[in-house]
Amino acid sequence: MENMIKRAAHDLVNSRYAVALTGAGMSTESGIPDFRGPSGVWTKNPDAERKAYRSYEFFLENPKGWWEERLTTTTIFGDLASAQPNAGHIAIGNLEKAGILKTVMTQNIDGLHEKGGTRNLLEYHGCALKLRCTSCLSRWAREAIDLEGLRKENRLPPICSNCGGIIKTDTVAFGEPIPEDVAEKSLEEAHKCDLMLICGTSAVVYPFANLPRIARHKNSGLLYRSDTSRQPQKSPDTVIIEINAEPTPLTAEGISNYLIQGKTGEILPMIVEEVKRLQ
Ligand code: NAD
Repeated sequence: MENMIKRAAHDLVNSRYAVALTGAGMSTESGIPDFRGPSGVWTKNPDAERKAYRSYEFFLENPKGWWEERLTTTTIFGDLASAQPNAGHIAIGNLEKAGILKTVMTQNIDGLHEKGGTRNLLEYHGCALKLRCTSCLSRWAREAIDLEGLRKENRLPPICSNCGGIIKTDTVAFGEPIPEDVAEKSLEEAHKCDLMLICGTSAVVYPFANLPRIARHKNSGLLYRSDTSRQPQKSPDTVIIEINAEPTPLTAEGISNYLIQGKTGEILPMIVEEVKRLQ
């Protein structure tokens, strides 16, 4: 393990443009369950999974009904607003402060990277603490709009003051397209990076799980990008490091160069310490 920590710190310090990809495993040590681990939300409550898959269709058919249901039932994660970042989130924030990590792309919707000090953050599946206009993609903190007041006055769904579009939670529902701004920028980052640090994801949810594959194959002539008019970049091969409790398809397919197996809340702070020693 010690050698793996040293190897990762060495790779990070020698990178030109390092990015991180993170998933639900980052936040289990903050008390938020993942989906597919042994204590995962889906594992323990398959009904919640079935319901989640129908949610976006319901929103499109009946946004008022969707909002009413949303405001009167508890969410699968409970009170995310009071969740606190763990040592892993703080370490990721410190790697950005040290000038090493340029961008963090997360699947998590819990807002903990922001609370943990990350500034250049792409929330690929949105954030449960924010709202988003489905037309112009304006975003607000959840408390910026009096949702309960709108419900009492029978004025749901909330309407965007900028463009008149319908507002939903920023969280991307199953079946909902990834908001274009975040999808485009993430694709750019996967092409641009020379190191990708992947933390706490089973890497089976697409299109997010394409990002490591894009980073791995970008010099091979395989095209994943939406803009096919540009030539594939000729940058050096990307180093892809996984930190996860268990091997993933990225490990099995050789997409990652190596896996450091264990808890992100323990391994990431050790890497930061080693980076400090090297810098
Ligand atoms: P996942 O549940 O599919 O996989 C999580 C992975 O992290 C598993 O491989 C698990 O073994 C590993 N893991 C768990 N705890 C760990 C720890 N402490 N250290 C290292 N590894 C650990 O999660 P996913 O790949 O992110 O995909 C799930 C989807 O569900 C995402 O789209 C995400 O938006 C959503 N989700 C988000 C949250 C959150 O915001 N915290 C929580 C659950 C699910």
